[in-house]
Formats: sequence, structure tokens, C-alpha cells
Amino acid sequence: MSQAQRIVLASRPVGEPKASDFRIEECAAPTPGEGQVLLRTIWLSLDPYMRGRMSDAASYAAPVPVGGVMEAGTVSEVMTSNNPGFAKGDIVLSRAGWQTHALSDGKGLAKIDPNIAPISTAVGVLGMPGMTAYTGLLDIGKPQAGETVVVAAASGAVGSAVGQIAKIKGARAIGIAGGKDKCDYVVKEFGFDACLDHRDPDLAAKLKEACPKGIDVYFENVGGAVFEAVFPLLNAFARVPVCGLIAHYNDTQAVAPKWAGAMMRNILTKRLTFRGFIVSDFAARHGDFVRDMSVWVREGKLKYKEFVTEGLESAPEAFIGLLKGANFGKQLVRVGPDKV
Ligand code: NDP
Repeated sequence: MSQAQRIVLASRPVGEPKASDFRIEECAAPTPGEGQVLLRTIWLSLDPYMRGRMSDAASYAAPVPVGGVMEAGTVSEVMTSNNPGFAKGDIVLSRAGWQTHALSDGKGLAKIDPNIAPISTAVGVLGMPGMTAYTGLLDIGKPQAGETVVVAAASGAVGSAVGQIAKIKGARAIGIAGGKDKCDYVVKEFGFDACLDHRDPDLAAKLKEACPKGIDVYFENVGGAVFEAVFPLLNAFARVPVCGLIAHYNDTQAVAPKWAGAMMRNILTKRLTFRGFIVSDFAARHGDFVRDMSVWVREGKLKYKEFVTEGLESAPEAFIGLLKGANFGKQLVRVGPDKV
């Protein structure tokens, strides 16, 4: 019986997660029963939503139980199949979680064609983060040619795609990211019109300078100080897809905004649209997403950057880093080789 490893939630974090909130366990690789497949994890996707799964506060999805395997999307290989829908060697998109091996009855598995793009993109630009950018921007943000689109976490998996799709649609794209290296990359490699450092004490003034005609679409990934700099610059009828609030994921208490009254007055008088969304709300758009994004990626109109750590055991530190900007691109863990 071959050995396997898994990472479980050892305790619910209070504030920022710590290494001790996770526990790595050794176990035997499971044996597939009738109708099941045995999966070997190649790529493990780390995503900010996992912070929410570590908490038992009410949310749109159930938390991971203490002692349970951390949830995640993976790119996995079918090692043994007792399911007529899958053959040994198939590469599949799965939700196998933070572990080297998993069983599946085949439900929810999607085959990945390695000839279309590198298989890791199935959890990145051609997967959930890419779909989040595509649907949130196009279905809620609705950028028009000549408009100004602002997105924070602009070097990351979602933000980098948001700005590039905005450019494809003829809009100006202004990014906000942590530090000069990320900002330079966002402009030079992803083709944004400008990118500003959110740690710059003059962020609000610099953003105003970069957006002389105001902001028509603000794709909200962050909240906090970035939102406070953006909000006064929103134009009448601006749209704000509220995708993520990573600046607040480690908050231990809800703080009433000091300027809620002024904010509501602006929402009213400028007729602003704020809409929160979860990518699964737009499941019906998956076909359009795959059609458009795979062409844009193939034609080089939409670039992506991956940030890889090695080995399942690297996942806790990589995840802790993701929440504070240690990643530079889509955060992935290489759990095993593409082929064994
Ligand atoms: P990223 O690859 O962008 O990584 C997260 C980034 O957030 C970090 O690299 C860091 O970048 C930035 N960040 C962290 N803290 C702060 C802060 N206080 N202020 C400003 N920036 C900060 O992650 P994703 O692209 O996967 O996710 C981006 C957002 O989209 C998240 O909020 C996530 O929860 C959300 N999301 C929502 C989905 C939905 O269905 N609604 C689905 C997928 C993602 P930097 O160094 O630039 O600060």
C-alpha cells in the first residue's frame, strides 16, 4: 500500500492563520471501490476563499470541520479507475483538497485536455479565478470602450485577468498592487495603463491623477484603505462588482464604517451599482468563458503568471503568505510531477 499525505484544519484561526492551525498527516493511499477512481494530486490551488472555510461564521458555504481535510480545487491524475467514465492516466479537475491522493465517484470531475494549455491553468486563468474575472467584470462591471476600470490585487489571479479583459473591451485599466515589482509587471507584462502601490501614503492623490475622468468600474477585490481611496472617484452610474475583501478576511470583529452615511448618500446621488457575487452565480456563462478566454490566452491577448511552491507540506505557509501578498501571480502548490 503506497503512502499518502493530507493537511487537515487543526484549529480555527483567530485573526491571521498560523502554521499550527494546520496539521500534516501520513496515511495509506485509499483503495477505490466500485464506481470509484483513485486520484493523485498534481497541482493544488490555493485561493483566498479558504480563509472563510476555516471559520465557522455564517457564510455562503459550509466550513471545513476541525480535523477535516482543507478544501481545494486540484488538477489530478486518475491512477486507478473502477468508473467507466474515466481511464487510468486521465487528467481531471477535481476538488480533492489538500492531500496527495483522493477517491472520487466521478461526480464533479471534469477531464482536462493537456493539448489546449498547460494543465495548471485549469485552476487558474482557464479555471475558477479566470471565470471570476470574466463574469464579474463583463456581467456586473459592463465596461464600455473609453471608460476607466480600476482593480486591486492587480498582479493576482483574478485582478490580472480583470485588467486585461477591460483592455480587450477597449477600456482603460488601472491596477493597484503591493510594491514596485508587482506594479511594473502589471504595466509591462499585463499591459495595464498604470498601476499604483497601495502602500504608498499618497495613493488617493496618485489614483486621482491616474483617473482624470473618474472611475466607471471598480472591481473590488480588497476593501479597506484601497476602497476608501477609490470611492470618492466613482463617476455617476459607476458599477462596482464586489468580488472579494481580502483586507478584512482576518478581521476578528465587524467595525461599523465611520462614513456609512456619506457612502450611502453618494450611492444614491451618483446612482452607483454595487453587486456582490460568487462565481458560481454565473455557472450558465461557463461556455462563453471557455470560448473567449481560451482564444485570448492562445492568441497572447491575455497573459497569466503563476507562483509555485513545491510539495504538499509547503501549502500552509504559502496560504498564509497569499493573504498578505507574498504570492506574485496565481498561487499553486506542485504536489506531484505531471507524469509518474
Ligand atoms: P491573488 O492572487 O490576488 O492574491 C491575493 C492578493 O491580495 C495578494 O497577493 C495581495 O496582493 C492582495 N492583498 C492582500 N491583502 C491586501 C490588502 N490589505 N490590501 C490590498 N491588497 C491586499 O488572489 P485571487 O486573485 O485568487 O483573489 C483576489 C480576490 O478575489 C480575493 O479577494 C478573493 O477572495 C476574491 N475571489 C472571489 C471570488 C468570488 O466568487 N466572489 C472567486 C475568486 C476570488 P498585493 O501584494 O498586491 O497587495
